Amino acid sequence: MSDLGDLYQELILDHQRRPRNFKVLEPHDRSVRGHNPLCGDELLLFLKLDGGVVTDVGFQGTGCAISKASASMMTERIKGRTIEEVNDVFRRFHHMLTIGDASEEDQEVLGKLAVFGGVREFPARVKCATLSWQTLMTALAGDQTVVSTEQT
Ligand code: ZN
Repeated sequence: MSDLGDLYQELILDHQRRPRNFKVLEPHDRSVRGHNPLCGDELLLFLKLDGGVVTDVGFQGTGCAISKASASMMTERIKGRTIEEVNDVFRRFHHMLTIGDASEEDQEVLGKLAVFGGVREFPARVKCATLSWQTLMTALAGDQTVVSTEQT
């Protein structure tokens, strides 16, 4: 358990310091802004899509270490993947963070993202970890350009 704790910290800090795909993507097919007012996390996500595949992804934003690391690791995980696969990863990620008890198959599919499983014990931080994914799902749906973790 302490191993997972160390891995978690190491990964989060690494991605916070050197976020992957931290760039404005021009041109892009979709861009959606995400807010988590409870923590102050802000995110702007860009997607390039081609034939049902996420061919490129970029993000900008400010926020806590968890939100930034989660966005960074998400971009790594979804780049070059089909929308179908992205939906599957999201479903498992969301399940792990809200219900818990990730199966072996879930863990395998999630890979490094499984380190966020521990966040479930801190309900206030779950939104930090899921903001980027919520923003991604909105971007893929393509019918909104702003998403908030809080309904206002
Ligand atoms: Zn946050």
